[in-house]
Amino acid sequence: MAKQETVEHKYVYAFAEGNKDLKELLGGKGANLAEMTNLGLPVPPGFTITTEACKAYLVTGEEPDGLADQIAAHLASLEQAMGKRLGDPEDPLLVSVRSGAKFSMPGMMETVLNVGLNDRSVQGLARQASGADAQTSGGADRFAWDSYRRLIQMFGKTVCEVPGEEFEHALDDAKRAKGTHDDLDLDADDLRGLVDAYKKIFFKHTGREFPQEPREQLDLAIRAVFESWNAERAVLYRRQERIPADLGTAVNVVAMVFGNLGPDSGTGVAFTRDPASGAQGIYGDYLANAQGEDVVAGIRNTVPLQELERLDKKSYDELLGIMARLEGHYRDLCDIEFTIERGKLWMLQTRVGKRTAAAAFVIAGQLVDEGLIDLDEALHRVNGAQLAQLMFPRFRLDHEFQPVAKGIGASPGAASGKVVFTSARAVELAAEGESVILVRRETNPDDLNGMIAAQGILTSRGGKTSHAAVVARGMGKTCVSGADEIEVNVPQRRFVVGGQTVVEGDVVSIDGTTGKVYLGEVPVMPSEVVQYFEGSLDPEHVDNPLVRAVHRIMSHADARRRLAVRTNADTGADAARARRFGAEGIGLCRTEHMFLGDRRELVERLILARDNTEREAALAALLPLQRADFEEIFREMDGMPVTVRLIDPPLHEFLPPLEQLAVNVAVAQERGEDVAQEEALLAAVRRMHEENPMLGLRGVRLGLVIPGLFAMQVRAIAEAAVTVTRSGAVARPEIMVPLVGAVQELETVRAEAEKIIAEVVGDSGVEVLIGTMIEVPRAALTAGQIAEAAQFFSFGTNDLTQMGWGFSRDDVEGAFFWRYLELGIFGISPFESIDRDGVGRLVRIAAEEGRAARPELKLGVCGEHGGDPESVHFFHEVGLDYVSCSPFRVPVARLEAGRAAVETDGSDSR
Ligand code: PEP
Ligand code: MG
Repeated sequence: MAKQETVEHKYVYAFAEGNKDLKELLGGKGANLAEMTNLGLPVPPGFTITTEACKAYLVTGEEPDGLADQIAAHLASLEQAMGKRLGDPEDPLLVSVRSGAKFSMPGMMETVLNVGLNDRSVQGLARQASGADAQTSGGADRFAWDSYRRLIQMFGKTVCEVPGEEFEHALDDAKRAKGTHDDLDLDADDLRGLVDAYKKIFFKHTGREFPQEPREQLDLAIRAVFESWNAERAVLYRRQERIPADLGTAVNVVAMVFGNLGPDSGTGVAFTRDPASGAQGIYGDYLANAQGEDVVAGIRNTVPLQELERLDKKSYDELLGIMARLEGHYRDLCDIEFTIERGKLWMLQTRVGKRTAAAAFVIAGQLVDEGLIDLDEALHRVNGAQLAQLMFPRFRLDHEFQPVAKGIGASPGAASGKVVFTSARAVELAAEGESVILVRRETNPDDLNGMIAAQGILTSRGGKTSHAAVVARGMGKTCVSGADEIEVNVPQRRFVVGGQTVVEGDVVSIDGTTGKVYLGEVPVMPSEVVQYFEGSLDPEHVDNPLVRAVHRIMSHADARRRLAVRTNADTGADAARARRFGAEGIGLCRTEHMFLGDRRELVERLILARDNTEREAALAALLPLQRADFEEIFREMDGMPVTVRLIDPPLHEFLPPLEQLAVNVAVAQERGEDVAQEEALLAAVRRMHEENPMLGLRGVRLGLVIPGLFAMQVRAIAEAAVTVTRSGAVARPEIMVPLVGAVQELETVRAEAEKIIAEVVGDSGVEVLIGTMIEVPRAALTAGQIAEAAQFFSFGTNDLTQMGWGFSRDDVEGAFFWRYLELGIFGISPFESIDRDGVGRLVRIAAEEGRAARPELKLGVCGEHGGDPESVHFFHEVGLDYVSCSPFRVPVARLEAGRAAVETDGSDSR
C-alpha cells in the first residue's frame, strides 16, 4: 500500500527511469530523451516533470505536494552527474526548461534556456568558457553575456509576460549604435550593456528585479511551461489538430549544452529520410555557432547537413551512426535535434517524425521492403486523411507559366489565392470566401490563425524545418518556405520578386512539392493517385514510388477489411467512377434529382392533379423516364447490389418558392393576364407549405399519402432490372424506404411493392430486396419490430444526427457550432464524424435488436459518416456489413476499413 502511494505521487523521472512508451506521462520529448539515454546515446543529463504534475497545477494553481522536494532531489543528482551546481558563481550548471506534451505541438508552448545565470554566475560561465585559452576569453565573455541576455529575454517574455518586442527594440538599438545589422557584431561590452537594458525593461513591466536566485528562476520557468498549455495559440493548435485539451504538458529540465561556443560548435535538425517525399537518405539543416532555437525559428539561413561532413567529420559520422540506430530502433522515420559543443555531439531530441501524406505511404512501403515492419503495421501507419490529401489535384504546367521564384517544397499540394501579408487579413478575406496565400518573411506561432485560414503559405526565409514548414505539414496545407528571391515588405503589404511588385490582393500560385512560385492562377491537374484509382496508371509498371506504395497498402487494406464499401451515386457516371475507385455496390441511389430539370413539369402535373386520371397520366409519363435512369445504373453496376431509395424530400421542394410565386401571380393579375394555371400552383404551394418541412410530409409519409408515387418507382426499378437482366447483365436491386419510424409504415409500402414486383419480375430470375433506412430515432429504438418487415437496414446518419440532437442539419453548423466547438461540447461537428455516445448508441441498439430479430439482416450506413475515417472505425466495431459514401471517398473508406480490421481484430501474418 505504502509502495503504491509513492508510485502515485512520483512527479519527477530521471531520464534513465523513463522509456518511449511513457508519452502520456512524460510527454513525447521526455519519453524519447529517456529512450535515447537508455540506448546509451549522448543525451545531456536531466529529468522530466510529469504531465500529472502539470494537470494538478492547472487545477489548483499550486504545485502539487511533494513536487518541490522531488525537483530538489533530482536537481541534486543532476548537479552530481555534471560536477557543477545550478548557478554556481564559479562554474555554473545551467539548465533548459522545455515543454513536451504527448503529441508534438511545434513552437506552441514555452522553453526557457540558460536558467541558472545571474550577475555573478555570468562571470563564472565566461571564465569556464574560456578555459585555459586566454585568446578566446573575449569570445567567452561575449558568449556568457549573450547567454545571460537570452535568459532575461526568454524568461521575461515567457514567465513574466513582458512584451517580446521591447527586448527586440533594445537589441535593434544596440545594433544601430554599433552600426551593424548582425547580432554577431555585438561584442561582450555591447551585450553587457544590453543585459542592463533588458533588466530595466524587466523591472519596468514586473515591478521587480530580475530574479538572481537560480532555484527561483527554475521554479518560475517550470510554472510558466505548465501555464503555456493553456496559452491561446496552444488551445487553437489543439483544436485544429484534434488533440484532447486535458492531457497537460510535461516539463524537461536538461543540462545546457552550447552550440554557440565558436566555429567548432553548432546545432541542427535532421530527418532519417526526406519527410516531404519519403526518399531514402538523411535530410537536415545545420547552423554553425548557434543555439537550437535559431534553427527552428528559421531566423538565419542554415546549410544542408551534408556540409557538416566537411566541417566536423567525426561528429558527422557519429551522427549518421546514431540516426541509423534510431531508425532501426523506432522502425520509422525519426527526426532529431542535436548540438555540437566544441566538437562533442549531443542529442537533444528525437521523435517519430512528422511527414507529408506522400512520404507516409512511401516510407511505410520502404520499411516493409526493409523487413522492419509487416503490411499490417504499414496499414496502421497511414490514414484516410492522408490518402484524401493525395487525391487533390496538382498544377498543370504544360503551358506558359514560368516560376518567378523557387523556395523549398515544404508541404505539398497546389494552392492559388490572393496574397495577404498578415494573419488578420488572411482571416478576414477567408471569411469572405476568398482563397488566400499568406506571405511572410517567416511565420511564428502567432500566425497560426492566418495559416489555418489560408490556402497556402509562402515564406522567404527558413528551411524544411522552419516553423511554417512544420506547422503547414501538420495541417496538410500547401507551403513553400525559404523562397529568398522574394523580398517581403509586410508594413507596405507587398513583395518584390525579379523586379516585379506584388501587392495585397494579387493572385499567386505556389507548388508545395517543387517549391515553385508563380504569378497569377495556374490551372490544375488530377493527382497520380487518382489516376491510379481510375485505372490509367498501372502500379506494376509505373516508376512512381508513391503509386506503388498506395497500391500495395490499398491491396492489403482490401484483403483485411470486414466492411464492404459501397457508394452513394445517382447517375451512371458517378456509379462508373465509384466502381473504378473500388466501390462494391451502390448503398444509396437518391431518386429525387431525377425529378428535376425538364421533369419538373411532370411533377407539377402530379401535384396539381385534380383526379386519379390526371395523376395516373403524370405518373405514367414519369415511369419510362425513371426506368431509363435505373437501367443505366444497373448496367454500370452489373452484378453488384444497388440500393435505390424511394423519393424522400417534401414534394413542394419541386415547386417554385411560395413568395416568388405569390408575387408573380399578383403582378400578372394586376396586368389582367390569365393566371388560372399559376393560381392553382400557388394554391398547391400554400397547401403544402410546412413550418418544419424536414419533420413534415416527406419520405415514407409521402409514399403513403400520394397514391401511386412509390408504386411507379417500384415498377420502374423492377422493370429496369428485368430488362437489364434479360440483356445479359445482372441487376441486383434493393428497394429502400426512407424515414420509416414504425413497422406499420414499412409493412404498408412493402405489401404494395411486393405485388408489383411479383407481377413484373415473373420468372426473369431477378431478386428484389426490400429494406428501410434507419434515420428516425423511433426506428432505431423499435428496430426489432422493423426488422420483421425489412431485409436490410441502412443507417441514415444525417437524419439520425439531426433528429437525435434536434439540430437542423441545414442551419446549425453555420449558426452556432463554432461556439460549441469553442466550449468543447464536441470536438468536431456530429454531422461530420459520428457521435459515438448518442447517435452511435442508436445505431448500436438498432443493429443488435435488428439482428436479434432477423439474423440474416444486412446492415449498412449511407449517411455522410460512411466516408469519415473515425466513423468507419465505429461502424466496423458495431459490425455493419458495409459503409456507403461519395465516390471520391471510396478509397478512403476502403483504407480505413482495413485499418479498423487490423486495429480491432489484431494482426495476422498476411
Ligand atoms: C441520411 O439521412 O443520412 C441520408 C442518407 O439521407 P438524406 O441525406 O438524403 O436525408
Ligand atoms: Mg435522410
